[in-house]
Amino acid sequence: MPAVILDGAKIAAQIRAEVGNEVQQLTADGLRPGLAVVLVGHNPASEIYVRSKVKACEELGFLSERITPPESSSTQELLALVGDLNRRDEIDGILVQLPLPAHVDSKKVLLAVSPEKDVDGFHPMNVGYLSTQRPGLVPCTPAGVIEILKRSNIPIAGADAVVVGRSDIVGKPVAMLLINGNATVTVCHSKTRDLPGVCRRADILVAAIGRAGMITADFVKPGATVIDVGMNKITDPAEFQKYFAGDAKRQQSFAKHGSTLIGDVDPTVAEIAGAITPVPGGVGPLTIAMLMSNTIKAAKLRRGQKVAATAAR
Ligand code: NDP
Repeated sequence: MPAVILDGAKIAAQIRAEVGNEVQQLTADGLRPGLAVVLVGHNPASEIYVRSKVKACEELGFLSERITPPESSSTQELLALVGDLNRRDEIDGILVQLPLPAHVDSKKVLLAVSPEKDVDGFHPMNVGYLSTQRPGLVPCTPAGVIEILKRSNIPIAGADAVVVGRSDIVGKPVAMLLINGNATVTVCHSKTRDLPGVCRRADILVAAIGRAGMITADFVKPGATVIDVGMNKITDPAEFQKYFAGDAKRQQSFAKHGSTLIGDVDPTVAEIAGAITPVPGGVGPLTIAMLMSNTIKAAKLRRGQKVAATAAR
């Protein structure tokens, strides 16, 4: 039986609607939540991401501010900018779009963001809160993975979960959230021995690798839930044929744009998995939805309202 397709766009729309209601309520109480997005220079991919983040903010009624310092900005200038945003009461969330120009000390700039406004959840203080199950801000993509599982009624407690990838922004926080949800978690990486064998033990398999179609059917236990975080661009027609021969809709789009997005999971896995996230339209849409949700959470945490603890998410 083919896998149930976990529709990330639909789940993201639900979350956005819920966040929109909360924005309205807070605004009615005179506490309109605000997000500042800092985009340094003119990286084209970053410009696209920032545009969609600001658009989502505006649609949901947030106060949103796009700050665009020049490419030549120094670390000191960016530290001063972040310091100003930290002090402004109407700003609840600060997002510094990465990558920063090579001459800037990115770690120093990110560390300067006040942990209570760190809506990306990358500050070491928030990393510590997550690992000790205290209320804090959780990185958006990992939080989105958990929302997909929960809202699709896929049990986490007691499940054997395998996460492939150990990055600070995806693999590690996903693993931590799964541990907090009482899964038994194995984290794999490029030095893992017998990766297919380890993955085949998973009830929940999360792929956050950055390698097109690497997880093939022999990595997957029949009936397992597969969450594909990977976003890889294919431009080679031969590679396109390898993965998507016979997919007329995708073929049309590939012909038009000269590229298509593929995850870390080979599309044939859908024939044996129990449930699977598509790419695009799986984890991707959750990332911005969770950024909006984090901004509300930051507003409530900072303004002293009770919100659910990280552990309860
Ligand atoms: P990183 O490159 O930071 O981490 C990749 C991880 O995969 C590393 O831990 C690496 O192991 C591991 N890895 C690489 N090759 C292998 C291999 N052959 N076997 C086993 N493990 C391997 O990537 P990110 O975590 O930042 O991103 C992962 C993917 O998720 C990317 O495709 C990215 O585009 C996507 N992504 C999607 C988002 C979304 O919104 N949907 C948001 C963020 C990322 P090691 O540590 O040993 O090097």
